[in-house]
Amino acid sequence: MAEAFTPDFYLSEFNLYVELTTLKSNLTAEKNRKVRLLRQLYPEVNVKLLKKRDLFRLLTKYGYGPLDPEEVPDIDHILISTGKLQQRVVEMGKQISSDYANQEPVLVGVLRGVFCFLADLVRHISVPVTLDFMSISSYEGDGGGAVKILKDLDENIKGRDVILVEDIVDTGMTLNHVLDYLWAKKPASLRVCTLLDKSVRRLTTVNVDYVGFEVPDEFVVGYGLDFRQRYRNLPFIAVLKHELLP
Ligand code: 5GP
Repeated sequence: MAEAFTPDFYLSEFNLYVELTTLKSNLTAEKNRKVRLLRQLYPEVNVKLLKKRDLFRLLTKYGYGPLDPEEVPDIDHILISTGKLQQRVVEMGKQISSDYANQEPVLVGVLRGVFCFLADLVRHISVPVTLDFMSISSYEGDGGGAVKILKDLDENIKGRDVILVEDIVDTGMTLNHVLDYLWAKKPASLRVCTLLDKSVRRLTTVNVDYVGFEVPDEFVVGYGLDFRQRYRNLPFIAVLKHELLP
């Protein structure tokens, strides 16, 4: 009797055949038997049986959708994968290193959303840098009024070359206020670096010198960005389900 076995994928980089099983565990016995037989007959063939859960875990780990809805129920879809984030952050680090050759810039991060991006970015900057952090009042604030400084800089930036590092620029109001605040401290220069730019929502003109990614008019979370303090630990940028937003 002839039997056929047609794995779902071949990963050429690993010389690995992957067979997916989305069936209930009691129904996978037949697949397991075939895989065992194949291994016996053709031990040189590298084949792996992946259960649905294993597949979702791998996709989540490497930042590709779809996510298992049971694991992250508030996420609609992944916008920027882990790989793409890392690739862009490397490019941005290189650009800053070449623009600030022979200088020692002060990188000012605006907490808390920027923590992932800044931590990755500095590791790709090859010139010496000083790091400092500010914390300001939250997004839901007073709709355009001056931002409240919750934590001021620890460093004196007078005469220094400063790069303000942001997670996302949306209307631009926050950034404008922070820039005014920093200019008052008389730095030699002041540039802005943001991971994400939602420029379609801009209400005020702000000059952003380094942009990681343009994003559409969606509420995004992950890689430091939160929704009600959750999801900062996702290794990718994802769009939150619309129905959750106020
Ligand atoms: P802006 O003053 O530019 O309107 O708002 C900037 C701040 O709003 C960001 O630093 C961030 O805290 C928050 N924000 C704007 N858009 C988003 C978004 O899509 N996701 C998250 N998590 N925060 C956002």
